[in-house]
Amino acid sequence: MKLDTRHMRYLASEDWRVLTAVEMGSKNHEIVPTPLIAQISGLRGGSGVHKCISNLAKVGLIAKVKNAKYDGYRLTYGGLDYLALNTHRKRKDVYSVGNQIGVGKESDIFVVADEKGTQQVLKIHRLGRISFRTVKANRDYLRNRSSGSWMYMSRLAALKEYAFMKALYKHDFPVPTPLAQSRHTIVMSLIDAFPLRQISKVPDPASLYADLISLILRLAKYGLIHGDFNEFNILILENQIPPDPERQGADSQSSDVALTPVLIDFPQMLSIDHPDAEMYFTRDVNCIKRFFERRFQFTSSELGPFLSDARKLVSKDGSKRLDVEVEASGFSRKMAKELEIYMKEAGFDGDRSSNPDARLESEGNEDGDEDLAGIAEAIEDPRHRVSINSSPLTGSGNMEGVAQ
Ligand code: ADP
Ligand code: MG
Repeated sequence: MKLDTRHMRYLASEDWRVLTAVEMGSKNHEIVPTPLIAQISGLRGGSGVHKCISNLAKVGLIAKVKNAKYDGYRLTYGGLDYLALNTHRKRKDVYSVGNQIGVGKESDIFVVADEKGTQQVLKIHRLGRISFRTVKANRDYLRNRSSGSWMYMSRLAALKEYAFMKALYKHDFPVPTPLAQSRHTIVMSLIDAFPLRQISKVPDPASLYADLISLILRLAKYGLIHGDFNEFNILILENQIPPDPERQGADSQSSDVALTPVLIDFPQMLSIDHPDAEMYFTRDVNCIKRFFERRFQFTSSELGPFLSDARKLVSKDGSKRLDVEVEASGFSRKMAKELEIYMKEAGFDGDRSSNPDARLESEGNEDGDEDLAGIAEAIEDPRHRVSINSSPLTGSGNMEGVAQ
C-alpha cells in the first residue's frame, strides 16, 4: 500500500485532534458516530468539527460509512499511518519518508530518515488485508473485536516484533537496532545488505551454513524459535577483509569478504515450550538445508539439529529466557495467543505462503539461478525495486519531508 505523506503538512492541529478522536472511538465502535467524534475531540462549535471531518475524509484518512442505525466514520489504514507517522515525527524518530523497499501481504517497508538524514527502516504491519471474515475458529478470543480488528492485529504484530527485536538486540543477536514503535509501525536501523535469497554464490557455503545453524541454536539457548527462518528473512552483510600484506603473489592483492547474517521479521517468533515447537524448529532448520542444497549444492554431513538437541541448550551459560522476558515486557501471553490465532486462521505463514512474490519466485525459479547476479548485485526483484546498495536513496529529491 502506498504511503502518501503529502497531506501531512497541511493538517491543522484540530484535524489531528479529530483524527485521534476517530481512532479512540474505533476501540468500541466499528463505525464511530459523528456526535461521538465531536465529543471525544473536545472541540467546541459543531461546524469546526464537521469541517475537520470533511477535510480528513477528502484525503482518505477516514471514510464515511452509512449504517442501518446511524451514520459515522471509520479510520482507514491511511489514517492510522498518519497517526503513527505523526507520533514518530513528534518524538523526532522520523523526519522524512523515502522509497518503499519491501512489500508483503503483511507489511510494507520504507526507507525513512531522521533529522540528521540518517536512513532507517519503517515497517508498517498490515494484517487484515485478508478479509477478517475468514477467521472462524476461536471466536472467543476475537469476539467483539471484528470491528477494527485489522488495526488491533496490526498493532499486536508491531508490538510483538518490537519486543522481540529489543530483547534480541540487548542480548547481542545480529538483528537491526530497534529504534521506535507506534501503533502498527516500527522503526529500525537500515541493514545495508541483501536477503540471502538474492545471493547466487558465496565463497564458503559450509561456513555460512554453520553460522546460520548456530544462530538457530543460539536462539534456542535463549528459549526461542524464529518460526520463519528462511532466505527472505536473513540479510547477508558483507565486510571486506583488507588484503594481507604478508601474503605473497596475486593473493596479496585480493581482499576477502566476510559474510555476516542479520536476522529480521519477528511477528511469528515463538517460545521453545510452544506446543508446536517441534514443527516450527524442524521447519526452520529444513528451510536452510533445502536452500543450501538448491542454491549452493551444499549438503551438511550432519543430520539435524533436532529440537531435542536444542532443548538441552536452554538457559546454558547463564543465558536468559527471552520468551519469558518478552512476556514480562508487556507483550502478554494473551496478546501472543490472539495474534497467533489470527495469523493461523487468516492463513498467514510468514514469507512462505502469505507473500505472493515469494511464492511466485519459489515456484518458477527454484533451481534456475541464471538470472541471479553475484554477491552484492541485486536481481530484478519486485520486492526490491530500489536496490539499497546501488540506487541513490540519499538526496532530498527522494525524500518526502513529513515535518510541518
Ligand atoms: P514481511 O513480514 O513482509 O516478510 P520483513 O520484515 O521480512 O517483512 O521485510 C521485508 C523485506 O524488506 C525483507 O526481505 C528485506 O529485504 C527488507 N527489509 C526489512 N527490514 C529491513 C532492514 N532493517 N534493513 C534492510 N532491509 C530490510
Ligand atoms: Mg519477511
